[in-house]
Amino acid sequence: MAIDALGSIVGAQHVQAGAIVGDVGVAGGPATLVAPSDAQEVAAVVAWCYAHDVAIVPVGGRSGLAGGAAVVDTGAEAIALSLERLRAVRSFEPELWRMEAEAGVTTATIARLARESGLLFPPDPGAPEQSQLGGTIATNAGGPHAFKYGVTGDWVTGLEAVLAPGELVRVGGATRKDVAGYDLCALLTGSEGTLGIVTAAWLRFVPAPEQQLVLVAAYPDAAAGCDAVLRVLASGVVPAALEFFDEGAIRAAGAAFPDGGLDGFVVVAEADGSHEDARRVRDELHEALAPGARALHAPPSDRATWRWRDGVSLAVTAARGAKLSEDIAVPIDRLEEAIAETVRIGARHDLEACSWGHAGDGNLHASFLLDPGDEAMRARADEAAQELFALALRLGGTVTGEHGIGLLKSGQLSRQWPPAAVAAHNAIKSALDPKGLLNPGKKVP
Ligand SMILES: Cc1cc2nc3c(=O)[nH]c(=O)nc-3n(C[C@H](O)[C@H](O)[C@H](O)COP(=O)(O)OP(=O)(O)OC[C@H]3O[C@@H](n4cnc5c(N)ncnc54)[C@H](O)[C@@H]3O)c2cc1C
Repeated sequence: MAIDALGSIVGAQHVQAGAIVGDVGVAGGPATLVAPSDAQEVAAVVAWCYAHDVAIVPVGGRSGLAGGAAVVDTGAEAIALSLERLRAVRSFEPELWRMEAEAGVTTATIARLARESGLLFPPDPGAPEQSQLGGTIATNAGGPHAFKYGVTGDWVTGLEAVLAPGELVRVGGATRKDVAGYDLCALLTGSEGTLGIVTAAWLRFVPAPEQQLVLVAAYPDAAAGCDAVLRVLASGVVPAALEFFDEGAIRAAGAAFPDGGLDGFVVVAEADGSHEDARRVRDELHEALAPGARALHAPPSDRATWRWRDGVSLAVTAARGAKLSEDIAVPIDRLEEAIAETVRIGARHDLEACSWGHAGDGNLHASFLLDPGDEAMRARADEAAQELFALALRLGGTVTGEHGIGLLKSGQLSRQWPPAAVAAHNAIKSALDPKGLLNPGKKVP
């Protein structure tokens, strides 16, 4: 019996039958939730499940937006494997800019420890108190500062993971360079729990910038705002972050902006570095953003601006009570088209639409506003989302720039990638998970 056997590995009090396991994207359903205390117990749980044909859904902080951590009924027996008790920071050597931390440490804890030692852990997905290192690596999460600093995987130099049928392995480590083998560390990063269970990671940091200075520019429309974004790139200046908010997003969230109300199409740029560099970059950004802007603020607090930015998604949800949001990404020179087309797709389906996101990465949170509980509206939004995916692909982009395929975009990979590339995906999945028990139904077609 699964519960008794798993209880003998992790302790009966750490096995919970009938727990409802979902994430922010998908409510999920009941499952036996198993919470090992260390990597050896994770390996033993995976070994038991593999020997008994029980599927494993890895669960981090459940802040994912694609249903990756959600348990759904596939007809087969499944457990949810929580990493929340793996919370040790095994080593932190600030003078060497590195850390080894377990999968259950929150993203906020890592960022805070780095900051307290004058360092920066740049990945900043928007739910840091909830998300865990393992889940952040498994989704290869980005965030506003990915424009200058890259995504989570760029800060991981090694992983400890449990591979099927229950082997604890280490790929990479504290070494900053390693080209000896295939890059298994990169393969596991972003694999959404379908190839192995991350139990710990070696991270690298950089010295924290002395100063962050924010500029907020408002434009009459998306064309003027996107021109400004392209001008920033062409000018050669490197902002730490370059975000946009279209007119619909600003209608929902602009009034809450700390430096007074905003309207129109808004671009937020951040300059960072030493005091001197940050001021120089801000001045250069000012020059690039000014043409066509009808207002250009330099808010007194960058923190207040980012807090406002974190609340934009909630403000858009609150506009009608619900929304459906997709995180498509396109080449930056097609951003304006993607923003305009999102609104047109919404109109075709009788839905109010808006978008905001990481302009520098061409990454939109393209959203349709919904009335809660209106099933017909929801069905129209689902159809509209299919058009969004087609739009992203037509513009040379991707169906997901940062949240992953998970369950919600299941099958979309085959639309994006040619058959041979999808076959390579399936071959990798079969090689690493021959029984198909690691997070079945997620990511791979
Ligand atoms: C308000 C909000 C803002 C967000 N902003 C951003 C953003 O700006 N950029 C961005 O990229 N994302 C963003 N996200 C989504 C993002 O995926 C997560 O926030 C996050 O980092 C996931 O971590 P988690 O621990 O919550 O993972 P979970 O949701 O628990 O899991 C995510 C996936 O990883 C797998 N997984 C979890 N832990 C492990 C493990 N140890 N080993 C193997 N697989 C594992 C799960 O099975 C699942 O497939 C946001 C989410 C919210 C709610």
